[in-house]
Amino acid sequence: MVESDQPIIWIKNPLDVFAENCEGGVVVQGQKIIELVQMGQTPKATIDETYDASTSVLLPGLINTHHHFYQTLTRAYPEALNKELFPWLKSLYKVWANIQPEMLSVSTELALSELLLSGCTTASDHHYLFPDQLENAIDIQVEEAQKLGMRVVLTRGSMSLGEKDGGLPPQSVVQTKEQILSDSERLIKAYHDANEGSMTQIALAPCSPFSVTTDLMIETAELAEQQNVRLHTHLAETIDEENFCLEKFGLRTVDYLESVGWLSGRTWLAHGIHFNQEEIKKLGENNVGICHCPTSNMMLASGICHSLELENAGSVIGLGVDGSASNDGSNMIAELRQAMYLQRLRYGASKITHQKTYNWATKGSAALLGRSDIGEIAVGKQADLALFKLDELRFSGSHDSLAALLSCGAQKADRVMVAGKWKVVDGGIVGKDESELINRHSTAAKKLRQLSDA
Ligand SMILES: [Zn+2]
Repeated sequence: MVESDQPIIWIKNPLDVFAENCEGGVVVQGQKIIELVQMGQTPKATIDETYDASTSVLLPGLINTHHHFYQTLTRAYPEALNKELFPWLKSLYKVWANIQPEMLSVSTELALSELLLSGCTTASDHHYLFPDQLENAIDIQVEEAQKLGMRVVLTRGSMSLGEKDGGLPPQSVVQTKEQILSDSERLIKAYHDANEGSMTQIALAPCSPFSVTTDLMIETAELAEQQNVRLHTHLAETIDEENFCLEKFGLRTVDYLESVGWLSGRTWLAHGIHFNQEEIKKLGENNVGICHCPTSNMMLASGICHSLELENAGSVIGLGVDGSASNDGSNMIAELRQAMYLQRLRYGASKITHQKTYNWATKGSAALLGRSDIGEIAVGKQADLALFKLDELRFSGSHDSLAALLSCGAQKADRVMVAGKWKVVDGGIVGKDESELINRHSTAAKKLRQLSDA
């Protein structure tokens, strides 16, 4: 069907909206926003359907820029509790090595569903585990995302530096550089859609300095340049990592990143905590983006990202929930609250407003993914929208609706639209039985534990 034949929907008179000049709502046709309606006005377009949003707060769909979906199988895992990053990883690598294809399917479905219900419309996942049985991990994730109809940027992660070569992960979860690069190229050809409105994109994401070889970092950056896809990795998450880089490479993390050709606007980094002022300047000048993951950083006691200094230097800041073994949830609206409050500890209350936090999770996150078609309520942008009602006890007595979503601790969207289609209605995913999904997922998690204890 061509765009002009598709029904025109008016999302009418929202209670509040995170956008300018659309107090009267937005008009959607096909995948796109075609009109903003000013206060007290009616649309110029002839409307086919109207949705009364007068009891809803309207946001651009939230964008999550760092996750590890498979980790939903190992939430609150006894052996990993109360540890910092390196010992936490060492407790979990051997469990994750046993993940079977059907476990990855259901964990992807669950994580995406959880995100969607929290108002997230685009999610990036960093999948770096490719033991023999999981060689088709990204293919599995593409299938699940497409079934659900969520927009995704799936990053082909990798680990090539095992324990025997001085890395952190066990040999059973590392691959050779050749395997990784050829699979990366295969996945880009098979699934990466660079067009406006794209639902599926691929990016390349060696896991971290302590789990991949220098050669792989260099050649991955070359491949990304050649294929015009984005680059992602974990960097400067902990002091342990900084010490590892100094010992193994004789370089601090940002110097290492520069030495492997990664200092560019193509790159977005997860965490980005332990930078000095000179490094912040260098990252900003080179337009390297940073995904702030507040809950994970608090849970693993990693530190606090220097968001404003990075932003002032020229870096874009976006948000991510990080993997579900270090959060342990995948709730994007709840993550905004964490970001706002954690960053206030560094910069004070007046500099970290709810508006700034919404910007990080929408426009900022979109820019990290290299997208200009999402992350904003504006004419011509994709119709990715999240609507929240303030009908729970937690909101009663609140006066500023946009502020209340964060300060009163919103957990769940009432409606979510992705590419012009309603995916969440009345707080539930259209066509999905949540208790059946919980049942399948928790059974898979138990089976993974049994395999790992055997
Ligand atoms: Zn991570």
